[in-house]
Amino acid sequence: MGSDCLFCRIVAGEIPATVVRETDTTLAFRDIDPKAPVHVLVIPKEHYADVATLAQGDPALAADVLATSAAVAEDEGLLGDGFRLMFNIGAYGGQEVFHVHAHLLGGAPLGPMLARDLT
Ligand code: 5GP
Ligand code: ZN
Repeated sequence: MGSDCLFCRIVAGEIPATVVRETDTTLAFRDIDPKAPVHVLVIPKEHYADVATLAQGDPALAADVLATSAAVAEDEGLLGDGFRLMFNIGAYGGQEVFHVHAHLLGGAPLGPMLARDLT
């Protein structure tokens, strides 16, 4: 994917980011437009479009993303009060960057899962 993908460019060091944790396979960095006191994005370094593609293509790498997310949550002091880990997928999911990323949100009560009930 490389140069066409924003998050591949962050992995390559071509675009700056505030990195909070890095492993051989994953990178965690602060969201540029945070929606909560803590808002970190956790990605696999390898390009997959979304979490469904990742989980089907490389389950071990999907587990790495979860493990890094848990480590960041611990580093940020979120384990006691709780936090939210969220993946947006595709058009209905509101995904804007098509390199899979977990949104790690916390540091305050986050309210309901959705802004309104759609049923
Ligand atoms: P999505 O809507 O795809 O689930 O979330 C994309 C997220 O990426 C958004 O929360 C947005 O603020 C964040 N984002 C977009 N561009 C950049 C960037 O250049 N750097 C960082 N750190 N975050 C970004
Ligand atoms: Zn990418």
